Amino acid sequence: MKIFEEIESEVQSYARSFPRIFNKAQGEYLFDTDGKQYLDFLAGAGTLNYGHNHPVFKKALIDYIQADGITHGLDLHTKAKGEFLETFNEKILKPRGYEYIVQFTGPTGANSVEAAMKIARNVTGQQNIVTFTNGFHGVTLGALAATGNSHHRNAAGVSLCGIHRMPFDGYLGKGIDTTEYLHKVLSDSSSGINSPAAVIVETIQGEGGINVASIEWLRNLQKICKKHNMLLIVDDIQAGCGRTGTFFSFEEAGIYPDIVTLSKSLSGYGLPFAVVLMKPELDQWKPGEHNGTFRGNNLAFVTAKAAIDHYWSDDNFGNEVKRKGKIISDRFERIINTYGDGSFSVKGRGMFQGINCINGEFAGRITKKAFQKNLIIETSGADDQVIKLLCPLIISEQNLISGLDIIEASIKEVCNETTSLPEEESFFRDTNNVVTLLRSLKQR
Ligand SMILES: *Cc1c(COP(=O)(O)O)cnc(C)c1O
Repeated sequence: MKIFEEIESEVQSYARSFPRIFNKAQGEYLFDTDGKQYLDFLAGAGTLNYGHNHPVFKKALIDYIQADGITHGLDLHTKAKGEFLETFNEKILKPRGYEYIVQFTGPTGANSVEAAMKIARNVTGQQNIVTFTNGFHGVTLGALAATGNSHHRNAAGVSLCGIHRMPFDGYLGKGIDTTEYLHKVLSDSSSGINSPAAVIVETIQGEGGINVASIEWLRNLQKICKKHNMLLIVDDIQAGCGRTGTFFSFEEAGIYPDIVTLSKSLSGYGLPFAVVLMKPELDQWKPGEHNGTFRGNNLAFVTAKAAIDHYWSDDNFGNEVKRKGKIISDRFERIINTYGDGSFSVKGRGMFQGINCINGEFAGRITKKAFQKNLIIETSGADDQVIKLLCPLIISEQNLISGLDIIEASIKEVCNETTSLPEEESFFRDTNNVVTLLRSLKQR
């Protein structure tokens, strides 16, 4: 099909890695127009935690459409919205002890991040928000200011302001708790950093290269927020909705963020949908002060409710995610010990995991090989050096293992092909995850 080259913008990205025309999808599979089947380990970059076209959600959606249910509802009270709110409150918030007000924003992740930052600034009367190295929060101006990636930032066209950048957990190497630095600069009236409104953080940095914040670091971060009167915003857009084995990625840390952003897998069906959760005292909006035409995607309310009813009425699904997460980490460890020299580590938690490669070129060759073997998997990180596994959480164990087999076979092939080795060894970007795969090959 020539039309894509003819009139679709150069801005496209994933399409370049997977140059096929896709036509159908089901569960963990994508199909192209030739009927070829692919295992989807990209899954909408974390939007399809429950797979493509889940039959139970699809039925709920078709029934709703057949009955002429409301599709677009602005922010009108609709039955579908009411039922979503009831289910979300009863099955997600209350059992976990979280009392949040729910704000429906425009349907993208960036929309909810923008709203969250606005709330924090307006409630505290402070402008600056602390954000972390390698963080990703979206590409609209406010969210982009909080994002670290220079490729995205350089496209802003105007100055990005209102943030203070701090080192994420592990950024300065093992054994250095970067929250101590945050505490130090906030306690020093001459540090140049005074009274931020909030901190915005991902518990696991997805786009930034699957960097995991430790449980202890998250707890310390919450303590420092309290001490310095900053609000804690957790951007759970990618790590939330079950990816780590609990609905919210921060449950294990036992923290209680002031504000939470959710989108991506929230609708359960890949439909655009985003919310901001905030503690009741933060809900100081005046009516209509922040709006958006597409805050009432009722189709998403229907599938989101179906997803919560189906998977979050008990602990089984979360436990299943943790079990499969263990299969992934065991296998990744084995791969690394077989093909590396044991010094490069697996990154991630639950079913949010990756393999840190020597550089983006190397990782890209591996994912390209995987695609030749009909596995769709992408990279992330500052140099796209991390192979990022984001398969649907509902994947069968058999298909999970098939996908892991393909990743291993691709790594093996790329290692075997690597005869000429790069001279410069500027690979030490990630101080606690130094990858020495190529050097170990050199030694053999
Ligand atoms: C994807 C993502 C966003 C932005 O969501 P969009 O729907 O692309 O605007 C924000 N934060 C995190 C953590 C994300 O993964």
